[in-house]
Amino acid sequence: MAHRAVFLDRDGTINEEVGYVNHIERFILLPRVGEAIRLLNQHQFKTVVVTNQSGVARGYFPESLIHQVHQKMLDLLKREGAYLDGIYYCPHHPDIGVPPYRQKCRCRKPATGLIEEAVRELALDTSRSYMVGDRGVDIEFAHQIGTKAILVLTGYGRGEWEYSRDQWKAEPDDVAEDLFEAVQWILQRESLKTNFKKGE
Ligand SMILES: [Mg+2]
Ligand SMILES: [Zn+2]
Repeated sequence: MAHRAVFLDRDGTINEEVGYVNHIERFILLPRVGEAIRLLNQHQFKTVVVTNQSGVARGYFPESLIHQVHQKMLDLLKREGAYLDGIYYCPHHPDIGVPPYRQKCRCRKPATGLIEEAVRELALDTSRSYMVGDRGVDIEFAHQIGTKAILVLTGYGRGEWEYSRDQWKAEPDDVAEDLFEAVQWILQRESLKTNFKKGE
């Protein structure tokens, strides 16, 4: 049977939104993220990061930095007893930089290429899955791939929610303070944890 998954945006959802993580020292986990991902691990959700990293196409940092940053992310999570089942990124931009990074690719969110790869490699059922992110594009992406959509108010989330959600192409199913609260909502919805009340 195909697995259910929780897809996670990276910047602003897992780590502090700093514009571009153009140096490994700028990757800083947000509070309660380790605990949130550990809960997903414990409840047999495949936990998969899906991130646009156009800083490569823009010439801000080499693609190799993405691998270093992701190793740091895995190391920091491991210290909290948490792990990721997959990390998928898009280094492209449609109009900026030089080929091959400048291209109209199929993997830049809200396009669905990264998810198609993840679904194939990890045997996932998107109809039973969730997407969590801090931007309207993440919510649109969730609807494209047929998952439930949760907006977190960390990163760009609060500003996007207050000032630009009327421009969004899709509505979130839930709005959460942070990834930990988003995970609580998921577990409650799946009847895996029933003693949680929002705001507690
Ligand atoms: Mg983000
Ligand atoms: Zn791409």
